[in-house]
Amino acid sequence: HATLECRELTKIYPAAGGLHRSKNKVRAVANLDLSVRNGETVGLVGESGCGKSTLARLITGMEQPTSGSVLYRGGDVHQLRGKAWTALRRSIQMVLQDSLAALNPRMPVEALVGEPLLIHEPRLSRAERRTAVIGALDAVGIPARMLKRRAHELSGGQRQRIGIARALILDPEVIIWDEPVSALDLSVQAQVLNLIADLQRTRQRSYLFISHDLDVVRHVADRVIVMYLGQVVESGRAEDVYTNP
Ligand code: ADP
Ligand code: ADP
Repeated sequence: HATLECRELTKIYPAAGGLHRSKNKVRAVANLDLSVRNGETVGLVGESGCGKSTLARLITGMEQPTSGSVLYRGGDVHQLRGKAWTALRRSIQMVLQDSLAALNPRMPVEALVGEPLLIHEPRLSRAERRTAVIGALDAVGIPARMLKRRAHELSGGQRQRIGIARALILDPEVIIWDEPVSALDLSVQAQVLNLIADLQRTRQRSYLFISHDLDVVRHVADRVIVMYLGQVVESGRAEDVYTNP
């Protein structure tokens, strides 16, 4: 069965900033069904505010659904505790628009990429961790001579490659790409998209690619789901889907 599944997933936020009681609650995600199988990339496209980020936070367990469920390998993500929760945090990785934004800009590449391993496999030696870092960097086209480079010295494209290496080093079953090329210059977008497409081809895992840009999604996804106001309004093979919201 599917690696990742959302079943009738719903998230309702209370209306923002009301001093008085309001019925204008926001249904950010409404009755959403979604499944991603091993070896498959599902694209999720929709305009700003349609609920994409909320969905990503629900899938990674960062946010509780109002109703419905998220299943990873058949288990309900929101019921996991203790070691099972820690294991899930490793199995599902996210790559964001600027994955290094929240990190110390003076951190060297070696620490940026090695940090998740330090947390999840604290018993590895420094040398073992370095070998793994170099392997992950190689997978994203960053040479080992850049290990000592600091985050603030990197170009936008290099930062995203490092962000991807940071996810890959944990060898996750699921990667959620959340607008991973939206902040990049067009020429760099194409390079990073090609990298993502290559990785997905050679590394048979489950991928969910989120973007507001259908052309970008088509480039990397097998199936595409179109979201509008929290709901799936269209889905199909990447080459068949078009949208006109
Ligand atoms: P997208 O990622 O597609 O831009 P979001 O998931 O960020 O969409 O937002 C979906 C809807 O939920 C929007 O109407 C947004 O204003 C609302 N929303 C998102 N996060 C919150 C929150 N923490 N509290 C209240 N409303 C929210
Ligand atoms: P190891 O012998 O520990 O697997 P590698 O150098 O092969 O060392 O890989 C180190 C890390 O980089 C691993 O965690 C792996 O997930 C990641 N990695 C290496 N090559 C690839 C690749 N082609 N695609 C995705 N991830 C890779």
